[in-house]
Amino acid sequence: MPSAAHRVTVIPGDGVGPEVVRSAIRVIEAAGVFIDWEEAAAGASVFEKGDTSGVPAETRDSIERTKVVLKGPLETPVGFGEKSANVTLRKLFETYANVRPARELPGVPTRYAGEGVNLVIVRENVEDLYAGIEHMVTPDVGQCLKVISRKGSEKVIRYAFELARREGRTKVTAATKANIMKMTEGLFKKVFEELALEYPEIESGHLIIDNVAHQLAKAPAQFDIIVTTNLNGDIISDLASGLVGGLGFASSGNYGDTVAIFEAVHGSAPKYAGKDVINPTALILSSVMMLRHLAETGAADRVEDAVLVTLEEGRATTQDLVRQTGGDVDTAASTTGFTDAVIANLGRSPATLGAQRGDLANQAPAMAPLPAWSYGPEHYAAIARRTIGLDIFIETDSDAGQLGVEFENLTAAGPFELRFVESRGTKVYPSVGLSSDGVRLLRARFVTRDGGPAAETDLLALQGRVAERQPGWTHVEKLHVFDGADGFTKAQGE
Ligand code: NAP
Repeated sequence: MPSAAHRVTVIPGDGVGPEVVRSAIRVIEAAGVFIDWEEAAAGASVFEKGDTSGVPAETRDSIERTKVVLKGPLETPVGFGEKSANVTLRKLFETYANVRPARELPGVPTRYAGEGVNLVIVRENVEDLYAGIEHMVTPDVGQCLKVISRKGSEKVIRYAFELARREGRTKVTAATKANIMKMTEGLFKKVFEELALEYPEIESGHLIIDNVAHQLAKAPAQFDIIVTTNLNGDIISDLASGLVGGLGFASSGNYGDTVAIFEAVHGSAPKYAGKDVINPTALILSSVMMLRHLAETGAADRVEDAVLVTLEEGRATTQDLVRQTGGDVDTAASTTGFTDAVIANLGRSPATLGAQRGDLANQAPAMAPLPAWSYGPEHYAAIARRTIGLDIFIETDSDAGQLGVEFENLTAAGPFELRFVESRGTKVYPSVGLSSDGVRLLRARFVTRDGGPAAETDLLALQGRVAERQPGWTHVEKLHVFDGADGFTKAQGE
């Protein structure tokens, strides 16, 4: 008897997408789960019709209704053109936690086989450089804003700790570049350290992201859960999938407060599209995550066991795995053949890996409600703030020294003084002996003489006077001090 019906939006996607999605659906249905699939489009076919979002209104409506998505990969134009439809989907439904497990699998030989790699990367999924706020500030200089918020950080970090509790995991490591990006990655680290105090039974620690890459390559079994910002997470989760057999095996779930999207980590692999050769394991394991999310725990276990038995036996092996074992690709199983084998193995238990799944077997649905966001308006109201000046960015051919003297004259009287002129983060005026290869973009920092608060009218007047002299000004940032702490980085020697 089929179990209770669920409604799920299914997006076949581009390239190999329809093949792996078909495979996952066949396995889910064979496991006895009855799902009312709402098929919806996104990605290349939608861009081709002139919809620049890549996610049409009907697809959004369907997701609003079903709240759960199983999707194939979507193609994104590289370096030009429309925004990624994947990123748009994640943002539209605020799926803030991207969960990517990397577990050693039987029959999949890797350099780390036998070490018991079993880690989960929890990647912040909405903010960071993926906010997509980019500008060409001069004809030759591009800029991308890295946006990290306390709220966004808290949501994903709390998710990681709650996941550790749910799955009986014992350690959460935050991975950031806080040593360099003190205001953004530093905020993420700070929020992590605050929240860790609420989870005393879970070991917590911080590592710089480049060291995490190094440690993952050296001794990956030391990690349990890694929580990190968007770009870091994007890169190290692909690295982690390489540790356990490659993209053909890497599953993922994108979780928000109301919607969850399940997809393989891999892309549309266009060269394999329509050839029935791609490995569908990644999407089948993503649908195991989906079944757990739908509280179909028994079916999730059956499907996961069947995949493990199939890999363990090694009778149906797709091309990617055959290549890794140095075998003859002509003997490889097709996508369909591998799927048939998984279906035939439903109901069997793996000999080697059952125990590794351990605590995961009976885990609660993956999207249990999180404790409420801890920062209310009262917190913000209590923060003492003052604005003490401006950073003004200027496209100019002027020499930094000339510009420095010009701005010192400009501010000789009045509330502000010139603090420095810099080029791509290097202070060039007053000279501290550093040189920078100029790119026609300079930043001038003006602050109040006594460090006290600046009046709005004075800030605007300053901006106007600079603009009169340097019509190539491109943008302005206010310099804030919050609760006595500078809300901006300093220049060398400042
Ligand atoms: P990709 O499609 O993931 O493929 C890269 C390589 O990974 C393939 O050539 C293949 O390696 C291997 N591979 C990927 N999936 C596999 C599978 N299921 N089984 C076995 N091997 C697999 O990455 P890409 O070529 O960089 O990207 C292609 C398109 O996909 C781009 O438009 C990109 O934007 C998009 N993309 C979408 C998503 C998403 O929708 N979530 C994610 C990533 C990329 P070999 O060549 O060694 O056989």
